[in-house]
Amino acid sequence: MKRLALHAFRSSGVFALTRALSARMARILMYHNFSGPGATDVDALTVDGIRRQFTYLRSHFRVVPLLRIAEQLASGRELEPGMAALTIDDGRRNCYEFLFPLLKEFEFPATFFVVSSFIQGEDWIWTDKVIWLSEQPNPPAELARGNVEAIFGALNQLRPEARNAQIESMAKRAGVNIPRAAPAKYAPCSWSELREMTNSGLVEIGSHTVTHPILSTLTDEESWYELSESRRQIEEALCKKVRCFCFPNGTSGDYRPSQVQQIANAGYQCSVLAESGLVGSGEDRYQLPRIGGRSEILFRQRVDGAVHFQQALRAWRRS
Ligand SMILES: [Zn+2]
Repeated sequence: MKRLALHAFRSSGVFALTRALSARMARILMYHNFSGPGATDVDALTVDGIRRQFTYLRSHFRVVPLLRIAEQLASGRELEPGMAALTIDDGRRNCYEFLFPLLKEFEFPATFFVVSSFIQGEDWIWTDKVIWLSEQPNPPAELARGNVEAIFGALNQLRPEARNAQIESMAKRAGVNIPRAAPAKYAPCSWSELREMTNSGLVEIGSHTVTHPILSTLTDEESWYELSESRRQIEEALCKKVRCFCFPNGTSGDYRPSQVQQIANAGYQCSVLAESGLVGSGEDRYQLPRIGGRSEILFRQRVDGAVHFQQALRAWRRS
């Protein structure tokens, strides 16, 4: 069905049209997890999937570093046509293992946003602990199938200490021990793997905070620590300047305007959200929308701008 829909769109030329009409808007692609050939993990893009997406990007766009888009926005000039940037969140090892070889093969630049305490091996990411719990043979009742999104909605409202206590208590009630170190699927890149990637000249490392908190649950003093200390730790470990930031969770309700100002004050050149959209010439470089899509049809609809025009049409009808 999806293949048929894709074929129908392709042959009608709709994708080519929306792509041409939105050529002056940049695409920032958002990725999280990758897996080997034939893997069935729904949260991860397989190497075959990456190859298909990269082949498509190479035929229709120019893949540029995220900072190039930020610099053009800062200059106030119109954006160059056909730009796409790759961003990868959190810093899990599967990015090094499965994505990095393809970045080298295609010679595509990419920005990795890493959680510094995760790379240091101090703890694994709390959102992964929730997903891991939901994958256990006898998961906590709250995390039964179809409920995980609702639990995230509730956990995202809590301060970190209350959130962690809630996760521990869910595990305890289900009789599950959360391991201290991340299981393989959720393990981090090491500093030396990140260094190897930056030394290739293709990868830029950005900050995704120290502990991945939802910034709106923190005081301004705490968020300042998260975004300045993560930067300091990454710069010290890699001897490279950190210039890009990524909001944890990244919807518009996950931070306050004062925290956007903090990101600029800390010296970052841009920051990205998980809100979906293309980047126009007047976009705020500290609140950049991104697009994602593991399935081929979703990827094409978003990267070619079909979703962008669909949303614009809906907004116009409502006005
Ligand atoms: Zn994240």
